[in-house]
Amino acid sequence: MTAGAISLDCAVFYRHFIIINGSSFYMKFADLGLSPEVLKAVGDSGYDTPTPIQEKAIPYVLMGRDVLGTAQTGTGKTASFTLPMIDILASGQAKARMPRSLILEPTRELAAQVSENFENYGKYSSLSMALLIGGVSFSDQEAKLDKGVDVLIATPGRLLDHFERGKVLLNGVKTLVIDEADRMMDMGFIPDVERIVSLMPPLRQTLFFSATMSKDMRKLADKFLLNPKEVAVSPPTATAATVTQGLLTVQKAEKRPALRKLLEHEDVKTAFIFCNRKKDVDILFGSLNKHGFNAGALHGDMSQSHRMETLEKFKSGDISLLVCSDVAARGIDVNSVSHVFNFDVPSHAEDYIHRIGRTGRAGQEGHAYTIATKSDGKYLDAIFKLVGKEIPAIEIDGMKEISEEAAEISAREKKPSRQSRQKKPRSNNSEGKNDNKIRDATTASKPPRSKKPRYQKEDNDTPVIGLGDNVPAFFNIPFRKTATK
Ligand code: AMP
Repeated sequence: MTAGAISLDCAVFYRHFIIINGSSFYMKFADLGLSPEVLKAVGDSGYDTPTPIQEKAIPYVLMGRDVLGTAQTGTGKTASFTLPMIDILASGQAKARMPRSLILEPTRELAAQVSENFENYGKYSSLSMALLIGGVSFSDQEAKLDKGVDVLIATPGRLLDHFERGKVLLNGVKTLVIDEADRMMDMGFIPDVERIVSLMPPLRQTLFFSATMSKDMRKLADKFLLNPKEVAVSPPTATAATVTQGLLTVQKAEKRPALRKLLEHEDVKTAFIFCNRKKDVDILFGSLNKHGFNAGALHGDMSQSHRMETLEKFKSGDISLLVCSDVAARGIDVNSVSHVFNFDVPSHAEDYIHRIGRTGRAGQEGHAYTIATKSDGKYLDAIFKLVGKEIPAIEIDGMKEISEEAAEISAREKKPSRQSRQKKPRSNNSEGKNDNKIRDATTASKPPRSKKPRYQKEDNDTPVIGLGDNVPAFFNIPFRKTATK
């Protein structure tokens, strides 16, 4: 029936059209068999055309079939199960502690996002929902469970905690969604998922989604699904045409000054800044704040409340730069991000596409700059191969000064003078305006481990000592791009 496709804003979304009696039509949500209430809510969100995964999955979910879906975040996957589930759950009543459906998510952020989807699309339906994620109080969650919920959205660990406390029973679950199964596997959650599934009735509808479909994934899916309908959308291998990309190659010690210079000279409204390692997220976050940038940080070692708070601030514009790791930021949906900076070249080429896919969404203009060192060659080659082209090299004026500053910092870091150590407060927070530490409540209460400066002991990476110094004059030299798009 699907006769063709045209590309919209990026490789992820294609609009399909159908041909009936020689006339062509775009497939609409109204063609998928959803209820008027759901269609109205979808319309309110501004969507009229389903994405391929929605078009392929929704009719089968509505038929009650098990579905094995290969789709990544960013493809509209969440609505492909939330929309039909709202209709499926429209009849029937929730009983205390016995949810009627369960959606398992690997991270708290994804779980929270799915619950936002339910709130959004379910606003004309009267379904009750509970979100069971770690890091937030048990009592509110228990109160909801006690009342009875139609939809339970949970991370595996927290769900099992509730089960073990006798607060939830899973034998009333008729629809189960296992979302992001490959990430569940990466994060070691499969034994928990298996245990959870074993607590459910065998007669149920199961929807299993994974970004990749390896042999292991299929084996796993076989355990949970019964005669599933397979639906797949190909992972994006291309980057959006509306994103201007650039590659800046510097020495390792020049990365931070170079990033600051890019930030100063670009018209940055909001930006994701990706690091490969959590400790580098902390270091860069501290460094940027010292230099007066309005930055926040996001990585998996932070407490849930801190992560949520940072995300909210970033979404509302209170924070304009979000320094983050791939895992913490993946799947997080923020509109109108003007820039993405890869402070580190990602070691998995697909992550390059995920990262830069956060800007230039829905046809908007976006910018993605990658800071590389000579040792990143093999990772860059893999990215070029995946996206089918090289990232255009950019230059910035004032590299000489950047190099001098980097050399100075390196020299200082190698030989921290006694005097400067005594003068500087241990917190690296000489201006006293920003607490650069990202700490869990648990880590915050731990006694200091040693008298060494923070990061220096465990971290071979360049420490942050000296980064709070004056902004050098070369920042005023205009930034020159030598290549675009
Ligand atoms: P997801 O893959 O579920 O994380 O969705 C990625 C983004 O696509 C979210 O911002 C959704 O709100 C958006 N989205 C979902 N369905 C559609 C649609 N049919 N048309 C346009 N955008 C959509």
